[in-house]
Amino acid sequence: MNVIYVDNNATTKVAPEVFEAMLPYLQEDYGNPSSMHTFGGKVDRNIKEARTSVASLLGAAPEEIVFTSSGTESDNTAIWAAIQSNPDKKHIITSRVEHPAVKNLFEYLSKNGYRVTFIPVDSKGRLDMDYLYENLTDNTAIVTIMWANNESGVIFPIEKISQIVKERGAVFHTDAVQAVGKIQIDLNKIDVDMLSLSGHKLHGPKGVGALYIRKGTKFSPFLIGGHQESGRRGGTENVASVVGLGKASELAADYMEEENTRVKQLRNKLESELLKQIPNTIINGDRENRLPNTTNVSFEYVEGESILLMMDELGVCASSGSACTSGSLEPSHVLRAMGVPFTAAHGSIRFSLSIYNTEEEIDFIIEKLPPIIKRLREMSPFWQGSEATG
Ligand code: PLP
Repeated sequence: MNVIYVDNNATTKVAPEVFEAMLPYLQEDYGNPSSMHTFGGKVDRNIKEARTSVASLLGAAPEEIVFTSSGTESDNTAIWAAIQSNPDKKHIITSRVEHPAVKNLFEYLSKNGYRVTFIPVDSKGRLDMDYLYENLTDNTAIVTIMWANNESGVIFPIEKISQIVKERGAVFHTDAVQAVGKIQIDLNKIDVDMLSLSGHKLHGPKGVGALYIRKGTKFSPFLIGGHQESGRRGGTENVASVVGLGKASELAADYMEEENTRVKQLRNKLESELLKQIPNTIINGDRENRLPNTTNVSFEYVEGESILLMMDELGVCASSGSACTSGSLEPSHVLRAMGVPFTAAHGSIRFSLSIYNTEEEIDFIIEKLPPIIKRLREMSPFWQGSEATG
């Protein structure tokens, strides 16, 4: 059975060029980049090249890039660095729809001496900018707001947010894990202090990430150890993966246009056909301002997990917007923050495409999904009730 992979916000296929670029560092080029000898020095040069590639994808300088083990580590590092560099400020701000890498750390900090403000979103997943403005104070150490949401694909107005935050003198960090490689980012034009990204979301390997730290930003390392990464992150670099991330960044600069044309068209086709063919279907999130590859679709009165299982039998890999917690299906915190009604949140599916998806694959989903939803609704007492009442 062929796999149709439309779960690219979870992780992506390693590009063949990335795989090729990584291989030497798992075989013959095993030197330590911190060594003084020529053998290690060669590897150090390759890390430098990767740093330059990541920097140029972001409009940054190579010295502003620190390699980490993941998007999660980058997020954690940025937040700890900001609060440690501003020990007198005990207020921190984030949004209600962040990834657990930020959300759970903020919840931890809220129990450990910090006042936390979670900025709400509206029904389309758009950030309440007035709330942000009103809650920023001179005591705010850091504002961290994601560039694009992993579930809805909604893109936040990072430039506007950065202006508001900088006016109040707080540190501004953005989790751009879902945005990098999908949309243009130019840090020459947008004043963020720190930005997180992750290799496996842009056809690079898993277990490698990067943190952009704008020159002049006060910083203290999260991993304390050797002098690697100019003293900003101890631990010998994961050389093969760092080189892979560098290659993935180069490729992303090239395929970004395809992502925003062909991939977007495929996403739009999938969305419009599902809306046309399946009654009681809702698209969650601001359709004007979304990542080109993502759609979050709710099929009312069916459970997302059942849809996923039936699609899985056909080889289609997607995600649902609810997770099984203690035996019951709980809609995700993102859909809850958006106020998506329970009947819709339970039946939410996220499709996230990539440059490796074909039109045939999307046609296959368009053909197979309507009968699946129909069959599941025929078994659902809620659907029958809803039909009976019109
Ligand atoms: N931030 C966002 C928005 C994500 O989507 C993810 C991964 O799903 C992460 C952070 C964590 O990245 P990693 O898996 O590299 O730790």
